[in-house]
Amino acid sequence: MNEKIINILLIEDDEVDVMNVKRAFKKNNITNPLVVANNGLDALQYLRKTQLEKPSELPRIILLDLNMPKMGGIEFLKELRHDEHLKNLSVFIMTTSNEDRDKIDAYNLNVAGYILKPLSMDRFIEAVSTLNNYWKLCEFPD
Ligand SMILES: [Mg+2]
Repeated sequence: MNEKIINILLIEDDEVDVMNVKRAFKKNNITNPLVVANNGLDALQYLRKTQLEKPSELPRIILLDLNMPKMGGIEFLKELRHDEHLKNLSVFIMTTSNEDRDKIDAYNLNVAGYILKPLSMDRFIEAVSTLNNYWKLCEFPD
């Protein structure tokens, strides 16, 4: 199994949701570096800069909210999938949107999963534990 610690990018505009993810990481003893961006635009900027300057630190896993100011999740995904250097990143949607349209759009843009909020804190911690088991199991390119 790859011992390399992968970086994770959380794209979320809601401060409480950001805190909940951080809390779930702590509860599950997940030590992967977690970078937070508050909208799709900031996230793209961060990813492109990191890819250019420190490609080894490029987050392989993205946790993505859908409803955000400036650039929402679906628009972000479209940009990501058209970017030669970023199109292969694994993205999990974490959203309150139960709309079929969003689910269809997201899976058409090759998301690895679509998780509906809100979960209770216990269930959320469990969900993050499941994600952690997934990315611990997976091999990623260096
Ligand atoms: Mg939001």
